[in-house]
Amino acid sequence: MNAVVTRNVETVPINYEKIEHTLAQSRRCDASQVREILTKALALKGLEPEEMAVLMNLSDPGLLNELFATARRVKEEIYGKRLVLFAPLYISNLCGNECLYCAFRAGNKALRRRALTQAEIARETELIIRQGHKRILLVAGEAYPAEEGFDYILKAIATIYDTKVGPGEVRRVNANVAPLTLDQFRQLKAAGIGTYQLFQETYHREVYSRVHVAGRKRDYDWRISAFDRAMEAGIDDVGMGVLFGLADWRFEILALMQHIRHLEEKFGVGPHTISVPRIEPALGAPLAGRPPQSVSDIDFLKIVAILRISVPYTGIIMSTRESPAIRRETFALGVSQISAGSRTNPGGYEEGEGEATEQFALGDHRPLDEVVRDVAELGYIPSFCTACYRLGRTGQDFMDLAKPGEIKHHCDPNALSTFQEYLCDYASGPTRQAGEARIQAAMGEMDPRGRQIAEKLVTKVRIGGRDVFV
Ligand code: SAM
Ligand code: SF4
Repeated sequence: MNAVVTRNVETVPINYEKIEHTLAQSRRCDASQVREILTKALALKGLEPEEMAVLMNLSDPGLLNELFATARRVKEEIYGKRLVLFAPLYISNLCGNECLYCAFRAGNKALRRRALTQAEIARETELIIRQGHKRILLVAGEAYPAEEGFDYILKAIATIYDTKVGPGEVRRVNANVAPLTLDQFRQLKAAGIGTYQLFQETYHREVYSRVHVAGRKRDYDWRISAFDRAMEAGIDDVGMGVLFGLADWRFEILALMQHIRHLEEKFGVGPHTISVPRIEPALGAPLAGRPPQSVSDIDFLKIVAILRISVPYTGIIMSTRESPAIRRETFALGVSQISAGSRTNPGGYEEGEGEATEQFALGDHRPLDEVVRDVAELGYIPSFCTACYRLGRTGQDFMDLAKPGEIKHHCDPNALSTFQEYLCDYASGPTRQAGEARIQAAMGEMDPRGRQIAEKLVTKVRIGGRDVFV
């Protein structure tokens, strides 16, 4: 493979030789070096790639447990017990690309194509709101209805924000759509986007060209430079990700770190979130049934734990691609945001799951109410908070607040007030019971300042206030 990538079009340089060297060097480390790295991680300042590589090699059960225990402590220190919930909204499965792992790929004749109308998007939004969600991740294939073009996405965002159901509304729309031009990113920002999310899929150029065989997505550089354009357009809240199963996960994580450093050096801010999707079976996408470098469950847990301690202030997102059991394990190791009650087929909230139109098979089919109850019973606080985004606490402002631990005095009370809203407006009897008990327990665990703020907010909600936050 080429060492440093240099091409005429703008790109993000990923230094492959350096990654390979780091991975080779790390194999010679012993237990005392591992423990030194884990001790360093507890200072919450992150890790260097060389240190991450050492942890990637761990297989000794005792040392692995020490890694997981460290990740738990870091997660607890920064995120406490909070888990933020969201729902994806697939508005269209039209696509001009040939990503061999995806059911939406252009050549898949088994897929029924569909782009929701604005009325259908409003209806799907209504059903998501009725579940109790406040955050939506808009998702679409890389082709827009011909007569509308990119405006289709902008209109969809407006439709989602405009849809209200009683006291229910969507307070933050994030989007996972194909890389945009600078001007389109400006329009996306003006439409009120929260996070712009995009997965590089694989940072390995050769693998990338093998699995993206037609369409605009074949251009690796156009994709890897998307966050640069987003940030130039003023979107300082971006979500990165790798689709695990395409290339060696150790390589992917170190390349992802180089991408993060690139953004930090150029724009002074890294990603707000990292997603860790593993390839799931998908109709008409044979590669999805036999991923070239599939990631085992234990390696998957290692990925979450290593990311948690390496970029401690970056959120980690876990989707419903994974089973409830794996999801539960990753909550403790570092996940801070989860989707729930999801559908990956356009129109799926109205019509139910549908293999003929969906992107991939889900691993967790439970409705939001059941996930919320489970999460609460496990000792976490389900949060529907959107305060930072709405107060403009994004990018560097968010990091300034997050890093000294100050964010806790905002996040914990806001998590509890939005959880209380959910319990009052949407929860079933058993979930409400479990949730009220969880709120009481959480208040008992807070420091006096946090408790005072939280009690004020929760009481406001109980007597009818909505959308209260600090
Ligand atoms: N079409 C846009 C793109 O490709 O960037 C955005 C939406 S695409 C539907 C969202 C993500 O789904 C992709 O980036 C890919 O990582 C993921 N994906 C595709 N096929 C998958 C599969 N079989 N299992 C799990 N995730 C998959
Ligand atoms: Fe299209 Fe995205 Fe699926 Fe690729 S991953 S086929 S671009 S929807």
